[in-house]
Amino acid sequence: MKTIKTGDTTWENRHETFVENIKDLYELGNEDNLDALDGYNDTTTGLQALIADAIATQTPLRALGSGWSWTQIATVNGGVMMDTKPLNTVFDISAASVSAAYTGSPQYLLFAQSGNGIWELGEHLRARNLSLKTSGASNGQTIAGAIGTGAHGSAFDFGAVQDFVVGLHLIVGPNRHIWLERASAPVVSAAFIQNLQTELVQDDDLFNAVLVSFGSFGIVHGVMVETEDLFLLETYMDRMPYDDSLKTIMQTLDFSNANLPCGTERPYHFSVLLNPYDMANGAYVTTMYKRPYQPNYTPPVDNAAGIGPGDDAACFMGTLTEVVPALIPTLVNKVLGASLTLFNKQFGTLGEIFNNTTLRGKLLSAAVGMPIAYSTQVADLMLSINNTIGPFTGIFSFRFVKGTSATMGFTRFGQTCVMELDAPYSDTTYNYYTQVWQQLENAQIPFTFHWGKVNEVTPTRIANMYGPAATDWIAARNKLLDADTIKIFTNPILQQWGLDTVLP
Ligand SMILES: Cc1cc2nc3c(=O)[nH]c(=O)nc-3n(C[C@H](O)[C@H](O)[C@H](O)COP(=O)(O)OP(=O)(O)OC[C@H]3O[C@@H](n4cnc5c(N)ncnc54)[C@H](O)[C@@H]3O)c2cc1C
Repeated sequence: MKTIKTGDTTWENRHETFVENIKDLYELGNEDNLDALDGYNDTTTGLQALIADAIATQTPLRALGSGWSWTQIATVNGGVMMDTKPLNTVFDISAASVSAAYTGSPQYLLFAQSGNGIWELGEHLRARNLSLKTSGASNGQTIAGAIGTGAHGSAFDFGAVQDFVVGLHLIVGPNRHIWLERASAPVVSAAFIQNLQTELVQDDDLFNAVLVSFGSFGIVHGVMVETEDLFLLETYMDRMPYDDSLKTIMQTLDFSNANLPCGTERPYHFSVLLNPYDMANGAYVTTMYKRPYQPNYTPPVDNAAGIGPGDDAACFMGTLTEVVPALIPTLVNKVLGASLTLFNKQFGTLGEIFNNTTLRGKLLSAAVGMPIAYSTQVADLMLSINNTIGPFTGIFSFRFVKGTSATMGFTRFGQTCVMELDAPYSDTTYNYYTQVWQQLENAQIPFTFHWGKVNEVTPTRIANMYGPAATDWIAARNKLLDADTIKIFTNPILQQWGLDTVLP
């Protein structure tokens, strides 16, 4: 494995919202002179050597994806960060690599090294007439980085990114790496295990714990993903009254009485965006319907502001700047007017619709998950408290996603509504977030924080949000990692969250 020690002693996240002091940043890469499998296995050995060295020198270590998170979860104060993006080999899977007990079809499986970008996987799959099942609104994350925080899209009959992962190759220490999959859903054959020179562990609880684990279970070296046939999304964004009819859909995801662009057809994606300064003209409602792929369509083009159909508010909210409160409504309306163009029957593949990797301006983003039944209570609360704790320099966005089986996935409610609050970087925005979380707690709304976005996670909140699941997660970490390895994969934020416990 190539390890380039950059000598960097500071690291800044992509949003430039914090700078971390580090010992070094290593750029990792596969050796060029080896074939794909030998190169992959050589990198496994290299990653183990880095862990051994970190233990020997008592240096904290952490894998970095694309650096898109707002929380300090990919960083490690005083430690070594490993840039995994160049680790982007992919392997198509043959029948010989698949267990006889696997219930799916090998042609839909893809084994990807952890640094592959979501966009890279999309391009690879498209050439094979396949597609990922979902992605976030933007696709600049690496596959391991996206699952590391439980990144979600808005496919409410499917789930979040980690929900299409069916196997994980995990480096759990200097002398051990494992292939982890669910005992209830075996995937790979003995030949596959032999090819990776690894050890098979089939365990539902361990697998679910590792899925969303913010870099705390060692290094995810590769993931097996289930894909599907390439499809098109038929997409619309309309303005609709925020009335009982829309509220009922938000609370139930029951479309049987819907008056949406394709009538009562159940969409693949449904999201609602509320501009508190222009409610008279209705909510922005995005619906996307899944269609079989056919080549005769016109892919989306960016509008003048560079915003495409699948983009979320994060893509343009950074263009807002802080102004005095009295000017906020005008400013938000002006930016939305320039950036959000309604669209009608626009077609694209998943990768074409959710394609944005461009960040505009310095922004903050927070997101919380809640059961869908609470979505309109929260929306109404947000509109009303905007008059007291606001005005918020942004909009309120609601997306819907099926509950995840990941132990610490924040989309953990059977049907989860994710409210996103994107706004310019400022102390005012941070203060506003603090007050919103307090208001949600005062109203006794059950909610969880997106691990990778601005949040105020505390041990007490984790206990309230996850109950025994958090203890199970800690137990799984202690089962898979020895005490030395746990120590080097512990960073300050994990300690702050109270998830760093070493069990006797
Ligand atoms: C413009 C924009 C839009 C966004 N849209 C969405 C969205 O629609 N939905 C959503 O849910 N989120 C969204 N996010 C948040 C983002 O998806 C998450 O923060 C995601 O985790 C970032 O992925 P990354 O590759 O940048 O990972 P990083 O931020 O670099 O890392 C995330 C975590 O993964 C760990 N990690 C990375 N690689 C490995 C590895 N190989 N082994 C072990 N651990 C690893 C890191 O240590 C860290 O703990 C958005 C962010 C931006 C900037």
